[in-house]
Amino acid sequence: MAASLRTDASAGLDPSAVIDSREAYGPNVLTEAAGTPPWKILWEQFTATMVLILIAAAGLSAYLGKALEAVAIMAIVVLFGLLGFFQEYRAERAIAALRAMSTPLVTVRRSGGLTEIPAEQVVVGDVVTLDAGAVVPADMRVVECAGLRIQEAALTGESEPVDKVSQPLASAELPLGDRVNMAYMGTSVTYGRGAGIVTAVGMGTELGRVAGLIQDVAQTQTPLQRRLERLGRLLALFGLGVATLVGALGLAGGKSLDDVLLTAISTLVAVVPEGLPAVVTLTLAMGSQRMLRRNALIRKLPAVETLGSVTVICSDKTGTLTENRMTVTCVDVAGRRITVEELVENGHVSLAPTSPIDAPSPAVTLTLMAGALCNDGTIKTRPEDGRAITFGDPTETALLVAASRSGIDLDELADRFPRVGEIPFDSERKRMTTVHLLPEPGWSGLSSGYVAIVKGAVDSLLLHTTRVWLELGPVDFDDRWEARILAANDDLAENGMRVLGVAMRSADRADVDDDIEDELTFLGLVGIMDPPREEVAVAVQRCLAAGIRPIMITGDHPKTALAIARQLGIPSAGVVTGTELDRIDREELVSMLADVSVFARVSPEHKLQIVEAFGSRGEVVAMTGDGVNDAPALKQADIGVAMGITGTDVSKEAADMVLRDDNFATIVAAVEEGRVIYDNLRRFVSYAVAGNIGKVMAMLVWPLPFLATGAVPLDPVALLPLQLLWLNLMTDGLLGLSLGAEPAEPGVMNRRPVDPKGGVFADGLGRHTIITGMAIGTIALGVAFWYHGSATPHGRRCCSPRSPCSRWFKRSPSDPTNRRCSDRRCSTIDS
Ligand code: ATP
Repeated sequence: MAASLRTDASAGLDPSAVIDSREAYGPNVLTEAAGTPPWKILWEQFTATMVLILIAAAGLSAYLGKALEAVAIMAIVVLFGLLGFFQEYRAERAIAALRAMSTPLVTVRRSGGLTEIPAEQVVVGDVVTLDAGAVVPADMRVVECAGLRIQEAALTGESEPVDKVSQPLASAELPLGDRVNMAYMGTSVTYGRGAGIVTAVGMGTELGRVAGLIQDVAQTQTPLQRRLERLGRLLALFGLGVATLVGALGLAGGKSLDDVLLTAISTLVAVVPEGLPAVVTLTLAMGSQRMLRRNALIRKLPAVETLGSVTVICSDKTGTLTENRMTVTCVDVAGRRITVEELVENGHVSLAPTSPIDAPSPAVTLTLMAGALCNDGTIKTRPEDGRAITFGDPTETALLVAASRSGIDLDELADRFPRVGEIPFDSERKRMTTVHLLPEPGWSGLSSGYVAIVKGAVDSLLLHTTRVWLELGPVDFDDRWEARILAANDDLAENGMRVLGVAMRSADRADVDDDIEDELTFLGLVGIMDPPREEVAVAVQRCLAAGIRPIMITGDHPKTALAIARQLGIPSAGVVTGTELDRIDREELVSMLADVSVFARVSPEHKLQIVEAFGSRGEVVAMTGDGVNDAPALKQADIGVAMGITGTDVSKEAADMVLRDDNFATIVAAVEEGRVIYDNLRRFVSYAVAGNIGKVMAMLVWPLPFLATGAVPLDPVALLPLQLLWLNLMTDGLLGLSLGAEPAEPGVMNRRPVDPKGGVFADGLGRHTIITGMAIGTIALGVAFWYHGSATPHGRRCCSPRSPCSRWFKRSPSDPTNRRCSDRRCSTIDS
C-alpha cells in the first residue's frame, strides 16, 4: 500500500515526493460551488421592489417630458444600486476570506517528523494523523487505528459512526459505507486515534464527486436584514398608496393630469428608502470585520446581530476562563502529599532502579511514571536555543514536565515500556487507558507481561478500584481509603486545582478489552494548577453590568469549578453536577437555572440539556464548545462559539463564531460589537423613516389649506422630485452610511440586552421616530408657509382667466391691486 504510493507509513513523504505528488494529482481543493456571481449581485440591486418602483417613476417622468427628473431618478437608482453592489460584493468576499481562515490544519508525517499544514496542502501519499474531532482532509487508507470511529453522514447519510480497521478487506468491490479501512474527505472522526495514507485529493476524492457539499460558511440573511427588507418593501408599497391618494386628491381638486402625476411621483420618491439595503449590508460587514479585529471570527452572518441580544454566556472552564497553562504542583500518594518542587530538590524519584519499589519514594515514582506513560503528549528540545517545547493536551504535557523535572528520563521510559494498546480519553468517560509491555514479567510485583495504566477523574477511577498502592505494595481498597482519597481530592479541588487519579493493573494481553479498566490498583493523585485568565475577571464584571449571566460548564470536579468561579467573580447559588442533572427533570432544571451558574462533571449531552433549558426560559444563549461531542449543543445555542486554538474541526463547523484566542473576554467583546451594530442599524432606520415621514407629511399637508380655501398654491407640490431626490441622497445615502459606522456609545455595556423579539422599533423607538418625523414635517411646512405665506392666504389668483399658470401670487407692495402675477406669460396674455 505504502510502496504503491511511494511513501513510508512511519516517516511520510520527503519534500521532493511532495512536489511530484502535487504535480501529478493537483492541490487538495474542491472547485467550490461558487458564491453568488458578481453579475447576479448587480442584477439583484436593480430588481428589488423599491428600485423597480423608482425606475417606473423615472419612466413616467420621461413620458411627461420631465427629462431632468427622469435622469435624476435614474442617477439615484444607479448610484444606490452600485453602492449596494459594492457593499454586497465586499461582504461576499469577506465571507470567502473568513471561510479560508477557518480551513483546518492537518498533522502529517513528512521527512520522519510531524508537521502541521493547511488541509489544502495535503498531497497523495501523505501520512495524515487522525484524532477525535478532526475532519478527514482527503481520502485515505487507514494504516493505524486505535478505537478509530468516523461519522460518514456527509457521504453516506448514515449518522451512526463507523468503526475503522487498518487491515486489508476481503473484497475490493464494497459499497462506500462498508470500506472500513478507508477514511473519506469531509467525514469526521468522532472517537479514537489513527493514521492514514492519502489516496486521493481534491476533486479526485469521493466528496469531490459530489462537490459543493462542504459549503460551510453560511451566507444567510440575518433576521434583522430580513425584517428590514420587509420594511423597505412595505414602505415602497405604502409610497405607492400615498402617491395614488395624493394623485386622486389632486384630480378631485381639478388639477391637470401632468401636475397630478408629478405630485404622485414626488411622493413616491419621498417614501422609498433607497439607502436601506446598502446601509444594512455595510453595517453588518463592517461589524464582522471589527469583531475579527477583536479575535472573534464570524462564520454565520446572523450571529453578528444575535450577539447584541445575548443574555447568557455558557462557557467551558479550561482554556476559556482559565489559561490552559497546566502545571503539576503536587502528588498525593498513600495519604501523604509532596510538592513537585520538593521532588525536584530531593531527587527521590528515579527510573534507575530495576523496579520503582527500590526507589526512595516508590508510590510517587510509580504515579509519575504512570502519568507519563498513559500520555499522548511529547516534549521536544528546540535546536536553536535548547528550550523544551511541549506538544499535545496541556493536562498531559504537564504530567510529562513534572515527571521529567522530578528525574524520570522520558525517552528511556518510553523505550522500556512500549505502548501496545489504548482506549483514548474522552470527556464522557473522563479517563484514558494505555497498555504497555513490561521490561520483564513480574515487574514491580505485577503478575503478567503487560501493565494497563488508567488515568482520569478520581471519582471515575474509584468506581473500578479494588486495591491501593502503599509505599511497598498494594493493600485492599476499603471505605477508610476511599474517604481518605476523596478528602485529598476535595482538598486539592478546593484550591482550584484540576485533579487526576492514576491507577494500574496487570494485563495478560496487548489488546484492550472491556474489563481492562476493572479491578484497578489506585496509585495516587496529581494536583494540576491552571490559573484563571486575568482579563476574564474584568469581562465577567462587564457581563454582569450588561445584564448578561456568565455560566461555567466544566468537566472538572465541582469544588475546582466553584473555586475558579469564585476567583473570577461568577455569582452562583452552589454547583450542580452531571449526576444531579441526570436525576432531575426538565422543569426542575429550568427553575434551578434561576440562580445556579456553575455546572461541573458534565458531559457534552448535559450542555445540550442546559442550552435547551435556558432557551425555554426565554434566554438568548451563547455556548462554547471544543470537543467533537459539543457540536449538538453548539448548533442548539443561539450563538455556538468554538475555540480557534484547541477546538476540533467538528466543533468549528457547528459554530456560528470561532474565538481565535479561545478567550472568554473575546465573547464579551463580540457581544459589545453586536450591540453597537444593532444600535447603529436601529439608529439609521429610525433616522431614515423619520425623514420619510417628514417628507410625506410635507407632501400631503401642503395642498390642504389651499383645498380648504379653494386657493391654488404657488407650486402644486411642496417638494419637487428633484428636491426630494437630493434630500434622499444626502440623508439616506451619505449620512445613513456614517450612522451605520458609528462607534460604541459609552454606556453600551451598562444596559440590558436587546430583546430580539422587540423588533427594530422596540423600546419606544417607533414613537420617537413618528414624533421626530412629524417635527421634521411641521418645521418644513412651517418654513414653507412662512416663506410663501404672504402669497397664500392673502394673495390673489392670477388675473387672467386664460392664464396658463392659475397660481396664487404675491401682492406687490408697490401695487396693492395688482391683478397680474409675475409670470411673464401671464403678464403677456393679460396685457
Ligand atoms: P472544561 O469543560 O472546563 O473545558 P474540560 O473539557 O477540560 O473542562 P474534560 O476534558 O472533560 O473537562 O475533563 C474532565 C475530567 O477528565 C478532568 O477533571 C480530569 O479529571 C479528566 N481528564 C482531563 N483530561 C484528561 C486526560 N488527558 N486523561 C485523563 N483524564 C483526563
